[in-house]
Amino acid sequence: MELKLDTPIRYVPGVGPVMAGRLDTLGIRTVKDLLFYPPFRYDDFSLISPIARVQPGETVTVGGEITAFRNAFTKSGKKLQQAQLTDETGSIDVIWFNQPFLVRTLPVGTQARLAGKIDWFGHKIVMTSPVYEKTEGSHTSMDGSMRSFSISQTESLHTSRLVPIYPETVGVTSKWLRGRIAFILEQCITQLFEYLPDSILSTYRLMAIQKSIEQIHYPTDTTTAAAARHRLAFDEFLFLVLTALEQKRIWETTQQADSILLPSEELVSFISSLAFQLTGDQKQTVAEILNDLAKPFPMNRLLEGDVGSGKTVVAAIAMYATFRRGYQSVLMAPTQILAEQHYNTISQLFKPLGVGVGLVVSKRGLDSRRSLPRTPLRGGNDKEEKFDILVGTHALLSESINFDNVGLIVIDEQQRFGVNQRLLIREKAQTAKTPHLLTMTATPIPRTVALTVYGNLSLSVLHQMPIGRKRVKTWVVPKEKREAAYSWIKKQLKGNHGQTFIICPLIEESETLQTVKAATKEYDTLKKQIFPDLHLALLHGRMKAAEKTKALDTFRSGKVDILVTTPVVEVGIDIPNATIMLIEAADRFGLSQLHQLRGRVGRGVLDSYCLLFTESEDDATIKRLKALETIHNGPELAEVDLKLRGPGELFGTKQHGVPILKFASFRDTGLIREVQSAAGEIFKSDPTLSHFPLLREKLKRDTIVQVSQD
Ligand code: ADP
Ligand code: MG
Repeated sequence: MELKLDTPIRYVPGVGPVMAGRLDTLGIRTVKDLLFYPPFRYDDFSLISPIARVQPGETVTVGGEITAFRNAFTKSGKKLQQAQLTDETGSIDVIWFNQPFLVRTLPVGTQARLAGKIDWFGHKIVMTSPVYEKTEGSHTSMDGSMRSFSISQTESLHTSRLVPIYPETVGVTSKWLRGRIAFILEQCITQLFEYLPDSILSTYRLMAIQKSIEQIHYPTDTTTAAAARHRLAFDEFLFLVLTALEQKRIWETTQQADSILLPSEELVSFISSLAFQLTGDQKQTVAEILNDLAKPFPMNRLLEGDVGSGKTVVAAIAMYATFRRGYQSVLMAPTQILAEQHYNTISQLFKPLGVGVGLVVSKRGLDSRRSLPRTPLRGGNDKEEKFDILVGTHALLSESINFDNVGLIVIDEQQRFGVNQRLLIREKAQTAKTPHLLTMTATPIPRTVALTVYGNLSLSVLHQMPIGRKRVKTWVVPKEKREAAYSWIKKQLKGNHGQTFIICPLIEESETLQTVKAATKEYDTLKKQIFPDLHLALLHGRMKAAEKTKALDTFRSGKVDILVTTPVVEVGIDIPNATIMLIEAADRFGLSQLHQLRGRVGRGVLDSYCLLFTESEDDATIKRLKALETIHNGPELAEVDLKLRGPGELFGTKQHGVPILKFASFRDTGLIREVQSAAGEIFKSDPTLSHFPLLREKLKRDTIVQVSQD
């Protein structure tokens, strides 16, 4: 059968169903996936040497005839293969370890090329564990007769050149991949078409696509390898940016919204009724949002701000404007605890103004809410109450909840929701027009990522903290200081009447039974053995809603000194009297997560502290944690995390819809700037890409990722 780019990989000769299964784990499903499978480095075997001239320390390729081969044993009893390779100039000893089958692959008399490092072995020069390539048959010369395809300067794939090394998996070696890739390059490379217009190729000095794919696998030299990667990385970013721009264009031209415009006196008087002055950034953001709300197409804005930067009040102001124009607002939060907290904040703010605020949490939660001043929405056949603002969890999505003329949707901690949930809430609200959308997150998103992946969104950032916010003093506490730390906490709690969170170790990403057990056990120990004189409460995700609320309420009221909890409190809880945050097994968290947890304290007038407990004695781990002692801002910590642990860890890549890049890196700011300007050029002159049909088609076909929000 003829191979096409989209042919499933198992039909490639030499692959078959078993190998196809293994390739699948590497993300390779089609011929094209394999063509675009990037090596992560090259072994440089391009130095070809006559045997007589090799030097210890060199990495070289030598060619000749196998003139001896035997299996032997090392002194320690390991299997050792000893061979000899001979050319016109001399012979060299070659050894491999633990590869007894080689005696059959490379029997005496075989013509072969070997590439590897030359070392001293005792008093002799040997080549150790080289890669090998038989040169039997018609293509035996070193400089080689050309293959029909142009990539391979010689017929060699494994020696005498820059040899690509790929990410491997069980049963799939780089050597095997090289063979299959060479084969499909020969068969299919001409099917790759150039989708970038000449003007872009020449302005940005980009290598042509076919050549880039050839050169990324079988580069002539390191310069062309770099140029090939540059081109492919450029494409990767370009498609992200163009996709985002396209989404934005479609959003703005096809979606209609009711314009929400409020006389500024009204807003000013509402804002001046708040208990505090807005920070400059909050004012700026409010202005941006109001500006969006006034437009006839829906806002699609992401509000990013470190924990405690005051995102809620910004959203509340937008909800106020929405209410005043006669529309409903919906605020969705990821946990019940947070939804209840928002409900309280928003009610306090709006009740005096006669705004109806409703709370929607899950059924189990509903029964427990009798104590709330207002009954939340009832589902089913009950006569529904009408609210101007609905606050809730994903329970808002349930069928029994009806929306009425929604003008604004706010999603808090948006990274906690799946793409589908975010989509659903909007569809559900869909009346005649589309509601305005404001999403909020405390996850610092590096500029480079925002510019590429979130290009379809408008972005507001709260850099400033409200005045008077105290810096949380932070210490990494090693094992031997644990007892001392406990006594210190006792003293603190007696002295200044603050309160403490104790966060149990993160066991798994989501809260499992195991996590709950660990927390319960820890709670018992702490209560009986460590803090018998203090009041403790337990909070974890598997508790009944009523119990959770009770635990949190008693903590909030000050009746409880220490709240022992799983990492569920990470999100959004606001308890000003809490002063100490103790985190067990802190090394299991990312720095950004720790910073979020730390943000739960230091919200009131008292001095606050964060104790990072760790049993780890690993220097790198301790050093990483100690970054929190000196760095107190989220974005900066995120940069440290990005350096130390890579972007996946930073964003929880999947949650944010941030794609895993193959060729490019989010650290490459220079390239992103170039791509931005290229995309801008293309888009400005021709937003529908009607003059770039190939590019347009390519974009459509490969919509690379579902980008962020939609
Ligand atoms: P986050 O951005 O983490 O969601 P919140 O909206 O929960 O932060 O705000 C944290 C605390 O700061 C709340 O108690 C809120 O009332 C308070 N706050 C917000 N803005 C200001 C401000 N400008 N001045 C003083 N306090 C503020
Ligand atoms: Mg918040």
